[in-house]
Formats: sequence, C-alpha cells, structure tokens
Amino acid sequence: MTQELQNYIDGHWTPASGPAGEPVQNPANGETVATIEYSTPEDVNAAVQAGNSAFEEWRNTPVEQRIQPMFELKNLLEENQDELAEALVEEHGKTFKEAKGELRRGIENVEVACGIPSMMQGGHLPNAAPEIDETAVRKPLGVFAAVTPFNFPGMIPLWFLPYAVATGNAFILKPSEKTPVTAQRIVELVDEAGFPDGIIQLVNGDADAVNALIEHPGVEGVSFVGSTPVAKLVYESAAKHGKRVQAQGGAKNHIVVAESADLDFAAEQTLGSAFANTGQRCLANPVAVVESAIYDEFAELLVEKAREMTVADGLSDDVDMGPLISGPHRDNVLDYIETGVSEGAELLLDGREADVPTEGSFLGPTIFGGVDPDATIAREEIFGPVLALVEAEDFDHAIDLVNRSDFGNASSLFTDRGSDAKRFRHEVEAGNLAVNAGTAAPMAFFHFGGWKDSFFGDLHAQGEDMIHFYTDKAIYIERWPDA
Ligand code: NAD
Repeated sequence: MTQELQNYIDGHWTPASGPAGEPVQNPANGETVATIEYSTPEDVNAAVQAGNSAFEEWRNTPVEQRIQPMFELKNLLEENQDELAEALVEEHGKTFKEAKGELRRGIENVEVACGIPSMMQGGHLPNAAPEIDETAVRKPLGVFAAVTPFNFPGMIPLWFLPYAVATGNAFILKPSEKTPVTAQRIVELVDEAGFPDGIIQLVNGDADAVNALIEHPGVEGVSFVGSTPVAKLVYESAAKHGKRVQAQGGAKNHIVVAESADLDFAAEQTLGSAFANTGQRCLANPVAVVESAIYDEFAELLVEKAREMTVADGLSDDVDMGPLISGPHRDNVLDYIETGVSEGAELLLDGREADVPTEGSFLGPTIFGGVDPDATIAREEIFGPVLALVEAEDFDHAIDLVNRSDFGNASSLFTDRGSDAKRFRHEVEAGNLAVNAGTAAPMAFFHFGGWKDSFFGDLHAQGEDMIHFYTDKAIYIERWPDA
C-alpha cells in the first residue's frame, strides 16, 4: 500500500505545502511505497515557532520527567522493531537483518539518553575562593535540527533526537527525501510515547527545507550527516548564520591486512565491511591494503568467498546483499567500475556478471586487484559494492597509504602482532579505528565521528559529545559572608 507522507508539526500530522517530490520506491522491485511533498520555508517556520513555544515549558520540566517519554519510546521502538525493519527494507533495500541491526544501534542511543540526569550534571566546588562557592551548570538552548542521509534512515535520526530532547531542547528532523518512511514511523511512535506537542517535529523536504532551517534565526544548532560537499556547505552556511553545527561527511576507509593476520577471518571481515548495506556505509572499508607477502593468497580467499554471496530482495531468506538505493545510483557505481578498468586495475570479480534479480537496482560484489593507490577507485567514495585491493610493500608502506586519503572516517587492521596494533592506533589519521574487527562502529555511549574531509565541526554524534552540543555551560558564584 502506498503511504502519503506528512510533516509532524506541533503534535499534528499535516501535509507539507511545497511541490511533490520523487515518489519513494522499493529499490528491489521499483514499486512505489510512499509519496512525499516537500516543505516550504513557511512549513519550516511553523515548526520552528512551535518548537520555541514548547521549549519554554520543556526546559523547566524536571529532567526526571523529561526522560519518562524516552523510556516509553525505547519500549515502543522495541515492540515495533520488526515492522519498522520491514518498512526500512522496503524503502532502502538493505537486508532485514541489517535493518534490525541498525535499529538496535539507534535504540541504544535512546537508552543512553535515559541517563541524562547523570550525564548533564555540572560541578560544584564549595570554598572555591574565600567565602565563595562555585557551581557549573548545563542549560538547554532552544530548537535544534538534524538533517540525515538515506543510508541509515532508522539509526541516524536517533544519533541526535534522544539527546536533544532529554537535555531540554526542542528538535526538528529533516530526513532524507530518498528514505523518509522509517522516520515517519519513528515519529508516529514519538507521538504515542507522550512527548509534549512541539518538542519533536518532522519536516520532509530537500535542500530548500535544509536551507530554511539553517537560515532561521529561531534555530540554535544543526546536525548534518551526508556527503562531503553538502557537509561543507551546511557547515559554512550554519556558521555564517550563527549556529552551532556538526557536519559529518563522506568517507573512503581502508582495511590493512598485515602479514601475521588470520587470513580466513580477515577475508570474512573485509567482505562484511565492504559489502554490508551494499557498500552504502560511511564505515565501510572499500579499500584493502594488503602486505605483499600474503597479497595473492588473501585476494584468492576474498574472491572465493565473495562468489558465494547471495544478492536478492532484502526481505527474502538467506540473503547477503540487497539492491543499491536506486537505478541512477547504480549507474554511478557502474561508471566507477568502467573507470577502474580503464585506469588499469584488474577486475578479479565482476559484479555486473553476478546472478542477481533482473528487476530493481541490483549489482553483485565487485573486487578489483592491483589497484594503484592514486587511481580514482582507490580515492573517491563510490558508495557501492566495489572493493579495491592495494598491495603494500610492508607495514610502514600500508600506514602511509591509509594516511594519504583525504578522508578520515574509519580504518581497520588485521594482525597478530601487538606492535602493529600499537602503531596503527597511534599513527592512523581516522576517527574510528578497529583492530581485528572489520567495522569500527562505536557503541552509543561513545562518540561517533570522523576526521579530515569526513567531518566538519568539533563535537561528534552520540554519547557525551551530544550533551556538550545540546547545552551551554554557565557558572554561578555565590557569597554568603558570615554576618
Ligand atoms: P546527501 O549529502 O545527498 O544528503 C544528505 C542530506 O542532505 C539529505 O537530507 C538531503 O536532503 C540534504 N541535502 C542534499 N543536498 C543538499 C544541499 N545542496 N543543501 C542542503 N541540504 C542538502 O547524502 P546521501 O546521499 O543521502 O547519503 C550518503 C552520504 O552520507 C555518503 O557520502 C556517506 O558517506 C555519508 N554518510 C556519512 C556518515 C558519517 O557518519 N560520516 C554516516 C552516514 C552517511
């Protein structure tokens, strides 16, 4: 059944008043799952006004009361996890297992935000100076917005929403127009959970809605997650408009496979890292830098295992990889495969020839060997199931190759040597690092965020950084001289 998506403003579902957007289609079969209208600056203004009105009471609501609807939201998300995951697969294409995994990571953030009464405490020092007691407090600021990408429509809104409102702010979500259905479902649960009207709102739309949020004087801060060019734009524009801003961008992450690694395990993890979510992950490692001594053996293992992957509709049984988000995006990925071939890399496994469903935007796992580290497919974010193998003379060379990247979101190392691990941890220039794990995904009580062109700002998503982003500090100095 096709759903008509709406905005959620001041506790009411209401149609956006702008133009109709592209219908949301199931990338596994092209069927329309939802229709969407985009928000105008007037729609955005209505949300900001409602948020600011609601904030006045919410900021003074005792924190212990503010987290009660958060507990309720956690329960509702858990009770509805299967239904949410199914909607997520239908709009995005990932497998049901991946969708459930992403929702779990999102719910973890709701759980962490339930601990805000401890997390947002300040400090107190009696007798900080003669007759003086000093207290540091954290205060909410007003209305915050988050602009999110298509690839994790369930998890990424929850990197922000729970912390923003538990700290006492109002929050507006502008989800990706490519995958807005999961966000609508989550906000339906928000509605049930009992937050006051205006505290959590949803506006659908494209760049126009984003710009209206960034330029609105009633918005205190913006969190952005998406591609690097847009992250840079949002960062600059939000700063120009006097906002707090954190902007997470794209990535091109590297796995290093050292000579001493357990190759079978490293190969499985490398495939999981490169091809989960059909390669559409900012934490994917689509470049494997492999030490020469084991290069041939590792490449063979990868190809052998990747050939066994099943590519199908994410809701079918025993599926390893679903379709890409859309036909146009698959065309981009196909162009990169052509570029890889024309720049001289060896196509070890050609995803274009894989056994995949004929309808929908499917592509099989693709592996290039002998890739020049300066080749386009080794440097640019492809955001699809394309893995590039780069040969490194030794461990020093491998680290150098990783650090040459413009991006710095994540990196993984496979090794059996503590000394390699220590050097990797100290020398690799990326924000999320893992040793003997394919994906460096932090739990919700740790911050999540990259370096270099993968991030613009200072405070990252998730965990304690969010408390700092969503509050400002104030100091109280008190003197009560003895009479
Ligand atoms: P995108 O940049 O196209 O869109 C992201 C959001 O920005 C959407 O809500 C969209 O409506 C909005 N937007 C698009 N163009 C805009 C413009 N000109 N001005 C203002 N807003 C605009 O990204 P996407 O294709 O949805 O997502 C994929 C990208 O996100 C990849 O590059 C991926 O690496 C990145 N990503 C990064 C992280 C991270 O944590 N660093 C996490 C997930 C995804």
